[in-house]
Amino acid sequence: MPIPFIDLKAQYRRIQDTVHRNIEAVLEHGRYIMGPEVEALEARLAAYAGARLAVGCGSGTDALLMALMALNVGPGDAVFTTSFTFMATAEAPALLGATPVFVDIDRATFNLDPAALGRAIRAVKDNDRGLHPLPRVGGLAPKAVVAVDLFGLPADYLAIEAACQAHGLALIEDGAQSFGAEYMGRRACSFGRVACTSFFPAKPLGCYGDGGMCFSNDSDLDALLRSIRVHGQGRDKYENVRLGLNARLDTIQAAVVLAKMEVFDQELELRQQVARRYNELLSGAESLVLPRVPEGSVSAWAQYTLLAESEAHRARLIEALAARGVPTALYYPRPLHLQAAFAGLGYVRGELPVCEEFSARVFSLPMHPYLDPEDQERAASAILAA
Ligand SMILES: *Cc1c(COP(=O)(O)O)cnc(C)c1O
Repeated sequence: MPIPFIDLKAQYRRIQDTVHRNIEAVLEHGRYIMGPEVEALEARLAAYAGARLAVGCGSGTDALLMALMALNVGPGDAVFTTSFTFMATAEAPALLGATPVFVDIDRATFNLDPAALGRAIRAVKDNDRGLHPLPRVGGLAPKAVVAVDLFGLPADYLAIEAACQAHGLALIEDGAQSFGAEYMGRRACSFGRVACTSFFPAKPLGCYGDGGMCFSNDSDLDALLRSIRVHGQGRDKYENVRLGLNARLDTIQAAVVLAKMEVFDQELELRQQVARRYNELLSGAESLVLPRVPEGSVSAWAQYTLLAESEAHRARLIEALAARGVPTALYYPRPLHLQAAFAGLGYVRGELPVCEEFSARVFSLPMHPYLDPEDQERAASAILAA
């Protein structure tokens, strides 16, 4: 029997009664748009993350768009971010007319390299591509940094916040994969001016469709985010004081996430156990680099991602795993600076060597709270035998 990469059905069987009760409550009260569950979830997740305020929205992509719009990001602005991430991270600033400036990653964490970020900011300020590769777009001014907590591990916020402060840049946390993670005693989605998360079903805290949330500590920003969420709404529905979006979180999806919060802490602990078991089972695999969690951090383990020696080695391992019914996934096989969508920025291969090397070497194993230890052993033995 092939094993699922993420088993959402096992979770559903566990929380089925609460999910049904919560959805039924929405069907009964009938407030499908902006019903009381949305506000309840905002309060619950803000408290959980350790942020003062939260605004539910339609997706993680909407959350990023809303955050950037609230911070007034637009044409001429350089937005620094990693190239080793999901499309939405850089797509959002680009859709607003801003220019993504891609920065390389740290080899140990796969997250934005703070030293490279500092060089990239200076390169834009001095218009000096000798300091750091830059997009072939003139007249940029540094504006914001979008740091991604890749695979559930928070970025290095002490160093990144320091760089943002030194250069007067706004920091946005892309916590789409990291809700529930920790960094230096603080939870993910509490960093930056605005933090964003996603409730896409496969994320650590997912719903049964699309959903997302913005977090902040600033009442003015929160009010802006709420206005942007509904077409730039002013005092009432038909006063529009700015351009906005239709980016509301569905009440039914909020009700689903509220049900999932009942087991979320246990699931985070189960994910830790799954990761620990993989680490133990694979400790003898000398040709692989296992995921590392720095001192002071706790990963939400959105993915369990290994580094093979080379692209060919990776292909052999994936084949051996598939032969034993173990699925794998590649996050991400092509860094964003080399995607056709960003060809206009003029990046060429070789400019962000770690992102490029890792996209050829990474592969992810099945990871979810209900993964059977025997399936983990099956995966490990297939890897060790290959
Ligand atoms: C999933 C994801 C997003 C986008 O979230 P959606 O809810 O799918 O729009 C953004 N950034 C990262 C890093 C993601 O993994």
